[in-house]
Amino acid sequence: MTSPDRRRFLRLLMAGMSLAPALPAFAQAPRRQVTIGGRRVRVIDIHAHCVIPVEHLLTGTKLAGSGGGAGGTILGPDRLQTMDRQGVDMQALSINFYWWYAADRDLAQRIVSAQNEGLAAWVNKYPDRFVALASVALQFPDLAAEQLEDGVKRLGLRGASIGGHANGEDLSLPKYDPFWAKAAELGVPVFMHPNGSSNIVRADALAGRADLVNIIGNPLETTYFLSRLIFDGVFDRFPNLRVIGAHAGGYLPSYLGRSDYACNRANVTCASTRPARAYLQSQILIDTMVFSEEGLRHLVLAIHVQAHRPDVAIAMPRDTVLMTSVSASTAQIELHFSGFCDVFDSGPISSTATPRYRAMFSRNWPEPDAHWLVIL
Ligand SMILES: [Zn+2]
Repeated sequence: MTSPDRRRFLRLLMAGMSLAPALPAFAQAPRRQVTIGGRRVRVIDIHAHCVIPVEHLLTGTKLAGSGGGAGGTILGPDRLQTMDRQGVDMQALSINFYWWYAADRDLAQRIVSAQNEGLAAWVNKYPDRFVALASVALQFPDLAAEQLEDGVKRLGLRGASIGGHANGEDLSLPKYDPFWAKAAELGVPVFMHPNGSSNIVRADALAGRADLVNIIGNPLETTYFLSRLIFDGVFDRFPNLRVIGAHAGGYLPSYLGRSDYACNRANVTCASTRPARAYLQSQILIDTMVFSEEGLRHLVLAIHVQAHRPDVAIAMPRDTVLMTSVSASTAQIELHFSGFCDVFDSGPISSTATPRYRAMFSRNWPEPDAHWLVIL
């Protein structure tokens, strides 16, 4: 952030402070209502894991034991209570770990069918609180394309949820184009969630203290995945494709200048036609799971319209929104965001219908009461 930008940002924060309404000392409402600048906003959590149990399909297979769930991942009434308490209005559900990528075609078909039917049934029960992203059998790209189409057209799902690779294979390989083509054709976003970067780093490199598989491995895998899609030309091949990277797009926004420069170096080949930044600011969406306000400010500046729209550098465009809690009070949320987020657009999660949407939001796992939502 340049000094003038920073000063402006601080001024906006001050302005936000004066706009924040006084709150009662004890909120009585069972469902937390989040507002920004005095305006009610809808908080959508796109990074919302769940499990549709399919263990009954796996008996006697090599995947036995993979299809269950535990605790809060199984959908039940407590999910709504938690959302109410946290002030999350809607969740975009997805099933992660992608263990079914190891299944053969027939089994993968049955697993994904059960998952997507289960997601759709839950969404139909609570249509004002949930949407869902389809599981697909990405190891069979043609089947994955069919499953996505069926999920969107027949079941009303809003996009796809995928891992960062398929059994170690890069998803920028041409064999996966049928899947990318279908997502682009349908105009639905694809949410990518990593699983420890086992496809990138050597075995056990991240073992040991601090769960580095998660802490470093996950953002590393997302950075690698998005960089592959950029530099191998997937976004250029499918200009309508929108991909959502979990965990704030990994490290990509943090070191964007280096990625921008990548294709300018001698003897480097790139299938991409624009600087990395251009993809981050158009076809890549990200959640805001960065665990700090400073991180979010950086993210907003990195991905945000600033490059195309210097006129709205910090003051964000009309279709901007945002939301968060981070264990903060509503007053603090307003203080932090009302400066640059004053108009809420209650459009659908699909980014493609309104390409002005840039990013969205998320649950700040594992803190149960911490959320960020940003739709830029
Ligand atoms: Zn996650």
